[in-house]
Amino acid sequence: MKKPLNGQLIVTNPFGTAGSTQWYSFHNGVDIRARLAKVYAPEDGYIDTYYSQLGGKTIILKGKTGWHYFHHLSGYIATSNVKEGDLIAISGNTGKWTTGFHLHWGLKINNSWVDPLKYIKKGVDMLDNQDKNWLINNIKNLIIDNVVVQGNKTREEVKANKCVCSGGLVPEDQSFIDKIKSYFK
Ligand SMILES: [Zn+2]
Repeated sequence: MKKPLNGQLIVTNPFGTAGSTQWYSFHNGVDIRARLAKVYAPEDGYIDTYYSQLGGKTIILKGKTGWHYFHHLSGYIATSNVKEGDLIAISGNTGKWTTGFHLHWGLKINNSWVDPLKYIKKGVDMLDNQDKNWLINNIKNLIIDNVVVQGNKTREEVKANKCVCSGGLVPEDQSFIDKIKSYFK
């Protein structure tokens, strides 16, 4: 299976309970830092698209490994059969459950959500375990460093306070992006 984005994947919110937000306690995918990035098919498969109020523009890629869900897209490129590595979408910030541009990637195998990062081929350029563990252990603190996200803030309020939660790094907040980057040097 291939990465859906080029370059190093920077996880802004991990899979599972570690990725809980004010909206849900279990994050059913990983959030990857991306603005208007090209999204590629992780494996051969068949594509369906739909719009959901919470997840925004969404692609489901039904592949051999499982069903891949990509949320918050700006647009779709492919609409039917695709090969691994085909351009399928452009990432974005659509839907209600997002606080900034990112790619949400969910993977369902036999009707259960799994961490898609565990299925990427070895040898690709992605975060190592140390980096991933750091993010899992520290992402909440970073959220708290930047803003205390409470209860029912609107998306605009959250954005105005420059936080991360469902994974979107607020792209305008360069100092925060630099802070995240510095941990990967
Ligand atoms: Zn997500």
